[in-house]
Amino acid sequence: MVRYGAKCIPEGGYFSVPATATDGALIIGDAGGFLNSQRLKGIHLAMKTGMLAAEVAYAALAKNDCSARELERFEEAWKADWVGKELWRVRNYRQGFQHGFWRGSLRAALGLAIGGRLRSSRVGVMRDYQHMKHVSEVSLPATAQFNPDGRFTFDKLTDVYHSGTHHEEDQPSHLRITDFSICNGRCIVEYGNPCVHYCPAVYEMEDKPDGSGKQLKVNSSNCVHCKTCDIRDPYENILWVCPEGGGGPHYNGL
Ligand code: SF4
Repeated sequence: MVRYGAKCIPEGGYFSVPATATDGALIIGDAGGFLNSQRLKGIHLAMKTGMLAAEVAYAALAKNDCSARELERFEEAWKADWVGKELWRVRNYRQGFQHGFWRGSLRAALGLAIGGRLRSSRVGVMRDYQHMKHVSEVSLPATAQFNPDGRFTFDKLTDVYHSGTHHEEDQPSHLRITDFSICNGRCIVEYGNPCVHYCPAVYEMEDKPDGSGKQLKVNSSNCVHCKTCDIRDPYENILWVCPEGGGGPHYNGL
């Protein structure tokens, strides 16, 4: 391993792009969900939305008016540009896979062939965590355990070390757990604390001091900012907020 990192990508597409203008600010690139999920590519959209935003910002500064109303011209600009057209063609691509690989592949092939023209409406989707099954619904063999070999696969602490992540230890946790009693009770029984498995760095279940069971421990300074927990928690019990400035992974050499 040279470096380690993890990152969710915004696959929602056209219908998931938020309002891209507010007073004094524009949202571009990955932050705005500008990603072509069919090509798994967004760098070109990031560059182009940055260019369009610069033009809108320049005009706003010249008028001395950086209100949301003035900056909303950015939304018109990206929708009229090839950015909007490209996202529109693949607007239901990722959504097509919600009922499995084969149905998704068929939809994707159709979409590719006809450029998404026939699917003019928005395909509704379940939230990501709603696909998660209860522990009682699955049966895994006892051998279904991840054992890193130290050569091609590694344990979490080694991964975190190679991410170069760093947060000031005395800052408030940027991972807000709304209700710990869910983590230490219902979630153990219903979902088996999935955050311990999908999170590459932070969450672990430790013994309670009085020996009465397990409790969630949040090692927030190890967070590599992948944002999985914010969207994957089955109870929407975890809120990821920005840590203090400068904290997070440092991908030197990538
Ligand atoms: Fe990713 Fe959340 Fe774990 Fe941080 S705490 S590494 S954002 S899953």
